[in-house]
Amino acid sequence: MLFSDTIEALTFQQRRILREHEMDMNLWGGVTLREIWPENCDNSSKKDVNKAYASVIKKIEAMRNECSDYGEFDSGEYRREKVTVIPDFPAAEKIMGRCPCPKDGELTRCCNLRTLDAVQQCAFGCAYCSIQSFYSKNNIKVVSNLDSYLENLVLEDGVWHIGTGQSSDSLFFGNDYGTLTALGNFAKKHPDVVIELKTKASRSDWVNMDLPANIIATWSINAKTIAEKEEHLTASSEKRIESAVKAAENGRLVGFHIHPMVYFKGWKEEYAELVKLLTSSINADSVVMIGIGTLTFTKQNLKVLREGGKRTLVTKMPLTPAAGKYSYPLEIKKEMFSYLYSLFPQEWKRKVFFYLCMEDPSLWMPCLGRQYNCNADFDNDMKEFYLYKINRLR
Ligand code: SF4
Repeated sequence: MLFSDTIEALTFQQRRILREHEMDMNLWGGVTLREIWPENCDNSSKKDVNKAYASVIKKIEAMRNECSDYGEFDSGEYRREKVTVIPDFPAAEKIMGRCPCPKDGELTRCCNLRTLDAVQQCAFGCAYCSIQSFYSKNNIKVVSNLDSYLENLVLEDGVWHIGTGQSSDSLFFGNDYGTLTALGNFAKKHPDVVIELKTKASRSDWVNMDLPANIIATWSINAKTIAEKEEHLTASSEKRIESAVKAAENGRLVGFHIHPMVYFKGWKEEYAELVKLLTSSINADSVVMIGIGTLTFTKQNLKVLREGGKRTLVTKMPLTPAAGKYSYPLEIKKEMFSYLYSLFPQEWKRKVFFYLCMEDPSLWMPCLGRQYNCNADFDNDMKEFYLYKINRLR
């Protein structure tokens, strides 16, 4: 039983709030709620409990507002339950969707990405992953009839930007189940469709495949500490960049997501190292985009994380409401994103499309020095830029 549940004089609401904090503290693995609860408190006295409650909430908020410290943090050995690949999952249901930005009100600046759930669930174990909690835990479903599904897909005229990395890691299986062949056939038939693969894997056995230029491969990369302690079972950021270099050497356009940025002790140094490694490893001409973003959780993500009980510091943040989800406050985001952007050489800023992913529109100008008046402007500009780079390769 949680300590908060044993304190009789707490109101229902106080108990609920404390329980959530307590579950987060269990994930962080530092002090417990019992340890910060005042010793001299009479837990049956309403007055004492209210006073203790206020002081404890203040302490927890102070902890959430500090940079996370991974120095002492031990995420333990990560054990993945055995996963079963179901390779003959037919695309009978709708597998095309759109990105999870809120549809109404333009609360986030959204690029209107379309999603294609060609593989569902992932064998990696990133602590912050929403995909993990979305699908059944141990089954990875691979759509078997993707080729015929895409062959029969009717698209309205116009430029489409479709990502496969919103339901799984796009390159974990490479072309083991023919997914890349099917996407390649589709991309050849629709030269104005941009297909974006997104991965944290390091395999590069697919880079020699005959895939058209409008398939772009992107790697999600992160500071060393975050990749090691929170992105379980994935390749290191160095290995991810190495495989992007191989793809670029084979004439492919590549991109990077520096997402989710985490506010931890040493973040400035580690993100600077990451950008240095990236910009010294690859030519900006081969890079189409850099997407920047941070940790964002839905209520459901938080519930699954708390109930799962696996050690992580990703919830050790203020959990400020942000467009129906929870994230860092805008000031922290501004500090992280503007710093990251400032690290890139001018040549990259000219030749690569930088954007903020699913973020508050007010962050664009202070962080990237440009902004859009509406989502449609962002969407059009991004597609125009991607096609410009793709057409130079054709
Ligand atoms: S690689 Fe992507 S899909 Fe896989 S666990 Fe990590 S965040 Fe989730």
